[in-house]
Order: sequence, then C-alpha cells, then structure tokens
Amino acid sequence: MDSAFDQELEALLAEIAAEMQDTQHWTGRARLDRRVIEALRRVPRHVFVPDDLRGSAYANHPLPIGHGQTISQPYVVALMTDLVRPRADDVVLEIGTGSGYQAAVLACLAKRVYTMEIVAELAELARERLHRLGHDNIEVAVGDGHFGWPAHAPYDAIVVTAATPAIPPALLDQLKPGGRLVIPVGPPCSDQELRLVAKDALGMIVERGVLPVVFVPLVGGPA
Ligand code: SAH
Repeated sequence: MDSAFDQELEALLAEIAAEMQDTQHWTGRARLDRRVIEALRRVPRHVFVPDDLRGSAYANHPLPIGHGQTISQPYVVALMTDLVRPRADDVVLEIGTGSGYQAAVLACLAKRVYTMEIVAELAELARERLHRLGHDNIEVAVGDGHFGWPAHAPYDAIVVTAATPAIPPALLDQLKPGGRLVIPVGPPCSDQELRLVAKDALGMIVERGVLPVVFVPLVGGPA
C-alpha cells in the first residue's frame, strides 16, 4: 500500500467497522472476518478511481467511474465480500466489474475470480489496472452477466454488483451446491434489498434479505 494513503485507509476501516456494528440487526454480522479486513488493506482503492477523485478514494461512499457507473461504497464491498465467505480454494464469479475493485478484493481471498462487465471500455480499463497491480488470478470478460459465465461454472460464490428485479436463473444454475450468492434485488435506483442466497448440498435454494441498498441497474437480460 502507498504510504500516503495509509492513514486514510485505516480511518476508512474504522468507519466500516462502526457501520458493521450499526447495521448488525439487519445483516446478522457485527464484524468483518479478519481476512476480509486484510484484503481491504491490500487493495489500493485510489488506483481504482478516476485521477481527479483520488482525494476521495478512501471516503466511505460510492464514486463515479464514467459511463454513468460507480465504484460501490467501501462498506458495501466489505459486507458483500464477507457474506459470500470466499475461501482459498474457491472459484468466484462477479457480475459488474466496473472499476475492478470488488474483483481485486475477492481475488485476495479466493483461488480465481471471473468477472463480467457489459461496458467494453470499463472492462478494458479494469483489465489493464488489475494486470498492472499483479492480480494474475482474475479474468475479465465483456458480456451480459444475466447469463453468467458457463465455461467456468459451477462457482463457489457469485457476487452481483448491479441491481435486478429478479435473480437471473442462469446465476442460480451456475452456483455450486454449498455455494453463496449475494445480489441487490429491486427496481432501478430505489427500494432495493441486498439478498444472500445459499444453495445447500441437495441444490435447495435458501434466500434472506440482508440490507436496504442502492445500486446501478443490471442492464440487458433476455430480450
Ligand atoms: N463492482 C464494481 C462496481 C460495479 S457498478 C467495482 O468494484 O467498481 C455496476 C457495474 O455493472 C457497472 O460497471 C455496469 O456497467 C455493470 N453492468 C450493468 N449491467 C450489467 C450486465 N448485464 N452484465 C455485466 N455487467 C453489467
């Protein structure tokens, strides 16, 4: 980590810890797994935001990244990462690469991360940035995440970072038995709920609401 940002990062981690406490009645999690905190320490968030916003990179709110898209609020990235409990041997799918930040955090914890982005320019920027930072266990593809990435399925964990009125069936199909999926569900820009979905060993789906959230919409989908 670039030392100029060390203090800001530690202040951000303290804010995230406080927000975890404040929201535990919703999320059921009072604190982050220590490994998630370490992953947040390892990924230089200022590299994932536009140059003119670097001064705000460690503020606990979303920031614009171009094309009308945002890099999610750090607390939300931390919570989503924590909820899917990525383990060292896991293969993870992310839908909505955006800046690549969430993918980088996941890649610190899992064996491999596949991430899909529908805006080709964002995918290209993220790919270059992740390569520059040495994340050689992340693959970025341009495509519509509604259909998942069948070639590498099934996934131990799936993280969707754009909101949809209903969970795309292909993503449920591509989740491994015992796997976890986290996704914001709801209409564009309001009344969305972060949901945690678990598939048990027999393939049964159990779902629970975690937190009210606001994400950009998952666009595309079946015609
Ligand atoms: N995870 C990102 C933030 C994502 S913002 C980060 O860490 O920076 C949501 C992203 O989802 C946007 O970049 C948007 O272009 C993308 N997106 C929207 N619909 C999509 C779809 N159907 N498939 C893949 N990506 C999509």
